[in-house]
Amino acid sequence: MRELLPETSRMDGSLPPERPTLWTAVLERLRNSTPDYAYQNWFVQVREVEEEERRLVLGVPNLFVRDWILDHYGDVLRKAIHSVAQRVLDVEFVIDPRCGTEPSSRQVAEPLGPDGVELHVLDATQERSRAKLREQFTFDNFVVGPSNQLAAAAAMAVADEPGKVYNPLFIYGGTGLGKTHLLHAVGNRIQQRDPSARILYTSSESYLNEFLHLVRRGRMEDFRKKYREDVDVLMMDDIQVLKKAQETQNELFFTFNDLHDAGKAIIFTSDLHPNELQGIEARLRSRFASGLTADVYEPPFEVRVAILKRKAEVEHLQLPDEVAQFVAGAFSRNVRELEGALTKIAAHASLTKRPLTLPYAEEILRDSLPPKQALSIEHIQKVVARYFDLDVSDLTGKKRTRPIARARAVAMYFCRKLVPGASFPVIGQRFGNKHHTTVMSAVDNVAAERDDASFARVLEELERQILA
Ligand code: ADP
Ligand code: MG
Repeated sequence: MRELLPETSRMDGSLPPERPTLWTAVLERLRNSTPDYAYQNWFVQVREVEEEERRLVLGVPNLFVRDWILDHYGDVLRKAIHSVAQRVLDVEFVIDPRCGTEPSSRQVAEPLGPDGVELHVLDATQERSRAKLREQFTFDNFVVGPSNQLAAAAAMAVADEPGKVYNPLFIYGGTGLGKTHLLHAVGNRIQQRDPSARILYTSSESYLNEFLHLVRRGRMEDFRKKYREDVDVLMMDDIQVLKKAQETQNELFFTFNDLHDAGKAIIFTSDLHPNELQGIEARLRSRFASGLTADVYEPPFEVRVAILKRKAEVEHLQLPDEVAQFVAGAFSRNVRELEGALTKIAAHASLTKRPLTLPYAEEILRDSLPPKQALSIEHIQKVVARYFDLDVSDLTGKKRTRPIARARAVAMYFCRKLVPGASFPVIGQRFGNKHHTTVMSAVDNVAAERDDASFARVLEELERQILA
């Protein structure tokens, strides 16, 4: 541990200068090696929380920021850290409330677009390689469960008949739950069938930056040609990034109309349902919702296990069942984290050449486990009963009045979602010996009803209370 000078020892009474951290130096490097908007929008929100010999812990305001950085600037970040630190480091992220503000309330990009400074726009060859679809992100590698069934089925349908069904398709949900994967899966499938199909995948951030760049140079024609004419399938990821970017939204509105009228397929993803996207023009929101909206949410335990197994299979890893179950039990909210944990244990095991056993996996992941949420069925029953102003005995009893049946179904849904190992029969038993098929249909109904935005908000609030 390095020590700070005690404040009293400073003769002039001023505050000590902030200790230069490894991250400060990395930031400096990033400032020079990334486009200004990337630096301003993303990296400045990150702060260093802890630095050890082999570990660097970085704080971010929320998971979205972390995922965005890893998805878009992962390599740049790794290189910058490596070249500053000159040693091998495990980099971990934690949510730190002291970091930046919510990105959703931020005015991303437009006001930050550096005036007069060359924006980083890729040249044509880079652009082509950038639009390349990720080969691994196929339907084959996508595990379907109740949490993504509708989205996956709709995506598949669009891939089979682009422009003919669900146009546009709008997929929304939290970070790390497979939205980008589904877009690429659609692209890959169409491309496979028809190599000449002009498929354009773009992040909304690059759409926005390209728009600003070309507008400034008076090259709108190039932009329009690319997005309105030379396209059979347009996929725009993370549309919430366009919040408050009015000109860009305006352009997108006309792009949408052109493509839609021409029967070209359009797919959007976002963190929220169109109705909830504040800062996006109403006419655009109503276009977003005019086809099919489908949400993705956190996968249940079995699906998490299946995802791990599928990933292990793709990467030719030996993954014992008990290790898969342990990891699936420990990381429940985000598939990216789940995969990160698997990658980490695989890397350690292959370096040390030790067999991947449960105790070894526990040892490797000890420091990165999310705080334990000792969630039990009783706990969920209590919180749900309190929320609906009922007694726990109502939930476990036999009464079937509508409010009670509904609260019971919601409680069952959360048990299934949040309690590791809570199978349908186990839940049934704990709710006064209900048949497992009763539990199954209750859980399915609640999941289906999430399409209703106000009900979805109730569920979110309840989940927050359960996890609090
Ligand atoms: P999002 O775009 O929703 O933030 P991604 O599509 O980037 O999430 O998914 C994060 C990671 O999790 C990716 O590596 C993706 O392949 C994986 N993933 C997410 N959902 C699934 C799933 N159902 N089956 C297999 N892999 C998944
Ligand atoms: Mg994504």
